[in-house]
Amino acid sequence: MTTLVYLETHDGALTKPGLSVLSKAATLGGDVAGVVLGSGVRDAASGAGAYGASTVYVVDDEALASPLPQARVDALAAVVRESGADTVVFPASVLTADVAAGLSARLDAGLNWDLTDLRLEGDELVGIRPALGDTVLVEVGWTTTPRLALIRSGTFDPVESGGTAEVKDVTATFEEFSIRAQLVDHLQEESSGPSIEDADVIVAGGRGLGGPEGFSLCEELAGALGGAVAATRAVVDAGWYPYSTQVGQTGKTVSPKLYIALGISGAIQHKVGMQGSGTIVAINKDPNAPIFDFADLGVVGDLTQIAPKLTELLRARR
Ligand SMILES: Cc1cc2nc3c(=O)[nH]c(=O)nc-3n(C[C@H](O)[C@H](O)[C@H](O)COP(=O)(O)OP(=O)(O)OC[C@H]3O[C@@H](n4cnc5c(N)ncnc54)[C@H](O)[C@@H]3O)c2cc1C
Repeated sequence: MTTLVYLETHDGALTKPGLSVLSKAATLGGDVAGVVLGSGVRDAASGAGAYGASTVYVVDDEALASPLPQARVDALAAVVRESGADTVVFPASVLTADVAAGLSARLDAGLNWDLTDLRLEGDELVGIRPALGDTVLVEVGWTTTPRLALIRSGTFDPVESGGTAEVKDVTATFEEFSIRAQLVDHLQEESSGPSIEDADVIVAGGRGLGGPEGFSLCEELAGALGGAVAATRAVVDAGWYPYSTQVGQTGKTVSPKLYIALGISGAIQHKVGMQGSGTIVAINKDPNAPIFDFADLGVVGDLTQIAPKLTELLRARR
């Protein structure tokens, strides 16, 4: 098996989602390579060696400066040809979803979507995919190569294995239609502290916070722990907190070391986005709340009393 893992960069460094998928691909064996596409990204590429890539293919071209998918399809198709890869694995993001779909059409290759695991059965690659509202897991496969796989974000953790990678430059030619779209503006949401995808600690708030002002309890507790704030769909739909912080089936999948849930009932659609967290702590006034079925530590009580005391104690310890 020759596997290519799509690696994204941000501010000149490889990002965690790609390195996490690379670490997983390395456990499957065979030749594992990374691919980095962009402009001014070559220096970041060699970092993939530490996460299991023996080679990193780089297409460093001004045509790839904007985060637009179509030119990346040309570049990636060139790397697939050059590397002879029979499997291409992507960490899911807004951009990679489009690139994977474009590559699938370009190479007439099968794409399995939203996978939460990959394993080998003999020579067969098997993907695991949640279905029916994330209530069951199904096995999926491919009938042709290259096999394309898009992995749900936050599914795996990056694991350093300490290796080094050879960086190989690949020259791509771009179709006229691939470089016709231009990025006209790029707005960045202002935020401080780690993002929920990167944070080791997440303090998540639900309807039990009572209103948008209740999120100050989450923010203060997250601040004391150096963590990020997340939310349930019920509260983002109500406009209490931004959509970008929603965890769950229709939001983000996260796997911090510590997940503290304040006033969250633990509906299945929320659970599927955070069940991979290391330790789950739930504070809820209802002893029968479903979240207590899967929390590692449950506190039955009023969060408006407990959360400020917890924040105070943590600050005092620091
Ligand atoms: C197709 C579909 C997709 C969905 N996708 C998502 C998703 O991605 N993410 C998501 O989160 N949800 C999703 N949902 C919604 C999900 O089903 C739940 O409705 C939602 O997660 C509930 O949010 P909540 O826990 O904040 O609110 P609630 O279920 O209302 O729970 C509030 C909790 O707060 C507790 N509480 C109240 N006051 C206090 C207090 N003072 N102190 C302590 N505890 C208190 C209550 O006991 C209760 O358990 C989806 C639903 C559907 C149908």
